[in-house]
Amino acid sequence: MVVNGVDESRQSNKVRIAKCILDCKEISKAEIASKLELSMPTVFKNIKELIQLGIVTEGNEYQSTGGRKAKGLSIVDHFMYAAGIDITRNHISYVFIDLKGNLLCQKRIRRTYENTLYYYEALYENFACFLKESGIESNKILGVGISVPGIIDAQNQMIITSHVLKVNNVSLKNLSQLFEYEVYYENDANSAAIAEFADRNRDAVYVSLSDTVGGCVYINQGVYTGEHYRSAEFGHMNLVRNGTKCYCGKKGCADVYCSARVLSCHGNGSLEGFFDLLQAGDESAKKVWEKYLEDLAVLVTDLRMVFDCDIILGGYVGGYLKKYIMDLNKKVVKLDPFDNDTTYLQTCRYEREASAVGIAMRFIEKYFDMLL
Ligand SMILES: [Zn+2]
Repeated sequence: MVVNGVDESRQSNKVRIAKCILDCKEISKAEIASKLELSMPTVFKNIKELIQLGIVTEGNEYQSTGGRKAKGLSIVDHFMYAAGIDITRNHISYVFIDLKGNLLCQKRIRRTYENTLYYYEALYENFACFLKESGIESNKILGVGISVPGIIDAQNQMIITSHVLKVNNVSLKNLSQLFEYEVYYENDANSAAIAEFADRNRDAVYVSLSDTVGGCVYINQGVYTGEHYRSAEFGHMNLVRNGTKCYCGKKGCADVYCSARVLSCHGNGSLEGFFDLLQAGDESAKKVWEKYLEDLAVLVTDLRMVFDCDIILGGYVGGYLKKYIMDLNKKVVKLDPFDNDTTYLQTCRYEREASAVGIAMRFIEKYFDMLL
């Protein structure tokens, strides 16, 4: 099952034009007409309506394609906002993004998850506080997205299971009730992938290398969820036959070798601590890192064999990988006889709060889709 896949043929011209302006950041009417193969009168009519709605603004002259000067159209970023909240075992992160998907402000508080009304109340109160501090008018919030580490039934607002939060079959309806906005839930890795793939038109696989290993398969601009919301559980693919025991009960899962914990346990429980040691040339950290990259290279080449598309490495470790990507590339090349290069392998754009930004983006997307 693919959710949020784009069926462009069913979108109105107004939606297509608004999304085109959003993607291009600045574009002229003539460029829109040529890009979307629409007549100039159709473009004029829809642009006029989008300007009247306050979503689009016509700015100064700029050099358009073809060298001619044209007036640039762009999205009014402060017109509407969306909120994103990311729940982890010990923290809650809050973000606000604007209509262009820009991260405006963020806040992270320490709070250990518990399935109690006290916890949900505290989560809401901190949100209300964050909203006040942000200065954003409350009537301009399109909705609140909440990302959770676990298997989520978004339709029924349920955590089906979460190893990280140590809960099964938890209803989140009480939490939703506290907000005066529409609330949407999604798995944290899927949410981060949405942020990473926001303005891409290519299929891709996202691998989340956090305290557990997860991922997301992104096809036709939609998330492939699987029949039981369990797709892309890359962490429980077998990496080593009869290897070390995983928390799921199996032996040799990728999670055992590629999670951020493999590194943070060598940095006094902190991933930052580990990378500080690595940076300082600590011999034992270097060995751990070498082995980690070897294992990650196996996972990456396996995924490339299955999906044959771009692979984005994100999660906590993904935020540190940019500097070391060539070392990983060398190991991947050795294992993969089918590819001539490794440009399909990329590190994440959002080094922090990708999940919260991604879940907030759902409301921006929906807002544009609903333009009548
Ligand atoms: Zn496992």
